[in-house]
Amino acid sequence: MSLTIAIDGPVGAGKSTVADEVARRLGILHLDTGAMYRALGLTAIQLGVDLQDEEAVTRLCDGTEVSVLHSAEGQRTLVGGKDVTPFIRTQEVSMAASTVSRYAGVRKRMVAIQQQLAEGTDMVLDGRDICTTVLPRATAKIYLTASDEERARRRWEELKKRGAEESFEQVLEEVRQRDQQDMNRPVEPLRQAPDAALVDTTELNFDESVAAILRIVGEKRHG
Ligand code: C5P
Repeated sequence: MSLTIAIDGPVGAGKSTVADEVARRLGILHLDTGAMYRALGLTAIQLGVDLQDEEAVTRLCDGTEVSVLHSAEGQRTLVGGKDVTPFIRTQEVSMAASTVSRYAGVRKRMVAIQQQLAEGTDMVLDGRDICTTVLPRATAKIYLTASDEERARRRWEELKKRGAEESFEQVLEEVRQRDQQDMNRPVEPLRQAPDAALVDTTELNFDESVAAILRIVGEKRHG
């Protein structure tokens, strides 16, 4: 049986960077599923599709080929074969991703692609519905979180490094607003799966967070 590690959690919990390192240590691939919703959100913005129009967004999703490539520098996310990785990390695209991911038709297609990619492969997946929907039979399931303020602080530091000018308060507001939307949508809302281990990283640094996850994976694999 393949080794699959499912990591869910709210905005800015560090899922993606921690998942990347866990995958590297185990010598397996990491799929950042949020990047796929971001790619669709970006495409909708670029084509002027109304994000609130479920039918139009779902049609767009059905006609858009979102794929991923795993390179030495990590995951590249592609739309129609074109690499959109550099354009999907803005605040505008974050909110757009959260909005388009509310729609059942969008989720159905994205989940199917993700399950296909993970099929028979050793992989770490991170997102919002991995433990509950994408990989309900994952080897290890983790819910990674931290306090709102700590998650906003980390995100703010990251945005500053990339030259963005948002204030801490603006970032905190965005974190809360996106969590609110992700936790309250009718389809596959973000929640901790009953069988997922909680890892709260408010007081943990990066290495400690990675170690905590590797410990859980070790316990699940070897009992
Ligand atoms: O994880 P990331 O912040 O890149 O995800 C962007 C958005 O995509 C999230 O706010 C969430 O709305 C959506 N998402 C999702 N299901 C996933 C991954 C991300 O709904 N598995």
